[in-house]
Amino acid sequence: MAGRDLPGSAAATAWPAGFLERLGEIFPAGLLPRVIAALATPRQVGLRVNTLLTSVPAVTLRLFEAGIAVQPLSWQPSGLIADAVFRTQLVDSPLVTDGSLYLQGPSSQFVSLLLAPQPGETVLDLAAAPGGKTSHLAALMENRGVLSAVESVRPRFFRLQANLKRLGVGIAKTYLMDGRAVPRKTGPRFDRVLLDAPCSGEARLSPHHPAALATWSERKIAECSRKQTGLIRAAFDSLRPGGRMLYCTCSFAPEENERVVARLLQDRPDAGLESPGEIPFETVDGLREFRGKMFGEELQRARRIVPSAVMEGLFIALVRKGAD
Ligand code: SAM
Repeated sequence: MAGRDLPGSAAATAWPAGFLERLGEIFPAGLLPRVIAALATPRQVGLRVNTLLTSVPAVTLRLFEAGIAVQPLSWQPSGLIADAVFRTQLVDSPLVTDGSLYLQGPSSQFVSLLLAPQPGETVLDLAAAPGGKTSHLAALMENRGVLSAVESVRPRFFRLQANLKRLGVGIAKTYLMDGRAVPRKTGPRFDRVLLDAPCSGEARLSPHHPAALATWSERKIAECSRKQTGLIRAAFDSLRPGGRMLYCTCSFAPEENERVVARLLQDRPDAGLESPGEIPFETVDGLREFRGKMFGEELQRARRIVPSAVMEGLFIALVRKGAD
């Protein structure tokens, strides 16, 4: 697909060579203009009320007093949305500093809801910093149970610890280590595992941020894919039989998504992909193949969240270990 054939020709010229062509092979043709337009448009601000420390009405009132208008996220009881013009004011808000509010995109909030950890369970977050999803998992668990949070990059690990403290997460044990080494230490013991994998981040690219665009390459995607393949095995091997794992990335690339999950399904006969059920926003099914690589029918149970003015692009796959 040539750049001049794509919607928004001014924006199209800013994208790295090959990026839009790949998007055209990943998304149905009818969706492509909207996907590209969403990447080029500032998104609304996703917010999550930290129910470990406060309540939605209390935070909504404080936001109202600060002159910040918010809407509820219909499918997420502690989720709110604000117009993009409020972003700076929200980032600097005392509500964020005191841990009442966490800036988190709605797609990221959906991840923890879909994993659905229960109070009292034993849960692992294998790539945790800065802790947005860890703290949401703790809130869903009502600070009861055990939540192990692993991060391998030292400055990010300290940021994770500081965030969890500020957000009142009392059940987290934090580990500075390579996630790939976890099952050797723990064995298969976790009820639920989240792997929000390090990725190329291509679903967050914008033509307005040329520095990030310049780092995109198919080589980087291939490097991420190799790392993700090791991490997803570790995540799965840490699960107890009957447990559930959620794999997600903020990349559209099939090499970082379907291919990683398909390899796990090949390597681990007790791994099965579950359908996420009805999703209250627009998604597309996982791909069965990409550029001659076959992933299999089962991968259609994975989903790509279609980016929009509200939702950020994300890939999600829900994996079960053996029977319930
Ligand atoms: N879940 C986090 C949140 O919602 O705040 C974001 C996680 S981010 C997508 C992926 C994280 O994995 C990064 O902090 C990165 O430093 C970390 N990471 C990279 N390689 C890792 C490894 N081998 N083991 C554990 N963590 C790793």
